[in-house]
Amino acid sequence: MKLKYNINISKDTTKLKREIIKKYWALENMEFKNKPSILKKEYNISQYELNNIIKNNSTCEINKNECIECGIELIYNVTSQTQFREKANSTIIHCEECQEKHNKQLKKERELNQTIYINQNLQKALAHRLWEKLTINEFSVLKSIIKIKDRNIIFKELFSQNYQGTWTIVNKLERIGLISVLRSEKSVIGFDFLTELENKILNFDEKIETVLKPKNNLSFSLARKTNKSKENQPDYSGVFVLPVDIVLKKGIDYIYGGWIQSDGSINLKFTPKEELYNVTHKDIEKEPKHIKDVMANMFSNLPRKFENNNEFNNDDMPF
Ligand SMILES: [Zn+2]
Repeated sequence: MKLKYNINISKDTTKLKREIIKKYWALENMEFKNKPSILKKEYNISQYELNNIIKNNSTCEINKNECIECGIELIYNVTSQTQFREKANSTIIHCEECQEKHNKQLKKERELNQTIYINQNLQKALAHRLWEKLTINEFSVLKSIIKIKDRNIIFKELFSQNYQGTWTIVNKLERIGLISVLRSEKSVIGFDFLTELENKILNFDEKIETVLKPKNNLSFSLARKTNKSKENQPDYSGVFVLPVDIVLKKGIDYIYGGWIQSDGSINLKFTPKEELYNVTHKDIEKEPKHIKDVMANMFSNLPRKFENNNEFNNDDMPF
């Protein structure tokens, strides 16, 4: 340990106190010769009294090294053996002023690194189209944040129903880089995202809406069984998969149409009667038409080919 130190004892200190102080600060090979416990016993004084004698009548100035930035001498005043050891062993290499500047610089670098990291994360999420891999709930939270933008309204509309659940989703969205949560100390001050993401999300949302929107009409094809081996087998069988929900309501008139195809299969279509009128509304205004004509018109516009999904081959399918 390479350091200079200087002990000053006030002039008006009594002889006894001076003796205690000298013993207290006595150093040998940078170690204190007398522990406070020894002095307390020897002079029959409490720790409080000993502290006061040292603090009120003496100072110890440590001159350890020079500030590596500005070269100013680093001087510390200590009032106890503990403080002395702390300062002697400390790794401080800056004066207070330079330390403050140094801390500010470090903070700035950390913030810059953080910004670079967040930005890279956001770019990565955009490039990998991560919004397409979210669940419906996660996508809905992301869409709301992007649409609403305002922090207070987001909290009111999104978090009020299910605070914890929404945070779980928001944390995931932040982790994978779709959004960035802006924080100041411990509070959230806003939500940020790349401008490019906004258009992509809204376009994707439109796509989902169109694709997932339930339909009220149904078309499919009945495939004819050509190799019936048993009497109880159906004449037509197959499997069809609906790409979206089809909603058929009670009490509503549906029109059905069937077309026999050259291969023997039958194309079927069910459409609400109401819709038929809506579609051909203009025609009706011009000249009232009989339902039969409207139907004929609608069916003539239907595609003649239907896609046939996975024809059912189990001969024993009980119908
Ligand atoms: Zn300095």
